[in-house]
Amino acid sequence: MNKDFTVKFWGVRGSYPTPGASTVQYGGNTACVEINAGGRTIILDAGTGIIPLGRELAKRHDLELLILFSHLHHDHTQGFPFFVPAYMPKASLHIYGPGGTAETVKHVLEHNQSSDTFPISLRDMASNKEIQSLRESQIIVWDEDGVRVVDSAPSPGDDAVVIRIHKSHAHPGGVYHYRITYQGKSIVYATDTEGYVGMDRKLIQFARDADVLIHDAQYSEDHYYGCLAGFPSTQGYGHSTATMAGQVAASAEAGKLVLFHHDPSYADDWVAAQERAAKNIFPDSCAAFEGMEIDLAPSPARRGGYKEVQYVTHD
Ligand SMILES: [Zn+2]
Ligand SMILES: [Zn+2]
Repeated sequence: MNKDFTVKFWGVRGSYPTPGASTVQYGGNTACVEINAGGRTIILDAGTGIIPLGRELAKRHDLELLILFSHLHHDHTQGFPFFVPAYMPKASLHIYGPGGTAETVKHVLEHNQSSDTFPISLRDMASNKEIQSLRESQIIVWDEDGVRVVDSAPSPGDDAVVIRIHKSHAHPGGVYHYRITYQGKSIVYATDTEGYVGMDRKLIQFARDADVLIHDAQYSEDHYYGCLAGFPSTQGYGHSTATMAGQVAASAEAGKLVLFHHDPSYADDWVAAQERAAKNIFPDSCAAFEGMEIDLAPSPARRGGYKEVQYVTHD
């Protein structure tokens, strides 16, 4: 088993996909992030970014995948019907997310592929699927014995991936944030969340000392407060400004902040401005773009710093 721990961004846009000349730099696919922890693949959300990821994964022999939904809004599920591994009998998918009952995630995915809305049902996708809605207190463990959900803190082996959940109410309908820990390093995925006045203390606690914090930063300050011509105030929509994201990263003492869930109306230069706004508060900030990859477990020669593959800044 290798000790890789990387995160790669396949879809970074919020709300709806935005192809076109003005979004090529950051990309127009909706939310999808791939994490590789010791050769195990964890996929965060299934926006349209999961479609090109699926084409890559389909080439593999071993296809056990863990898919975690932050919540079940369209921009986080709309790529799943086009996810090639879901159609492959050799694929084994563990699919988890929030929900009022254990069946909620399954019901939503079934509904998204009902005969009125899509030609192929969830049941007719040939992969093996284990689908569960989890409670906030549950913990996901992936080690040599496979993927399992446990109710109390495990004492995992050295090679286990451990994933904890933070349930936030700072988004309509609620949202799950995930903390993925492997070999003593952590990535926190906190999309679709809005900063409270005085900051979200529970989220700051959850993200404490994370090596990488991926945080919603959909809006500029002007936009959020209704000062941008042609745009209503978005306060209460359940999304953050780059400033809010920077404040959480600074308070949590995260290693690096990645701005995520860019507003679909923002062209590349607007997203670059978001990055500058976050850097004013938290210098090690960047705006996620499709193809961006961060290596959390660089080789010993590079220990102490990030080896960033395909990473460029957009100042
Ligand atoms: Zn969203
Ligand atoms: Zn949402």
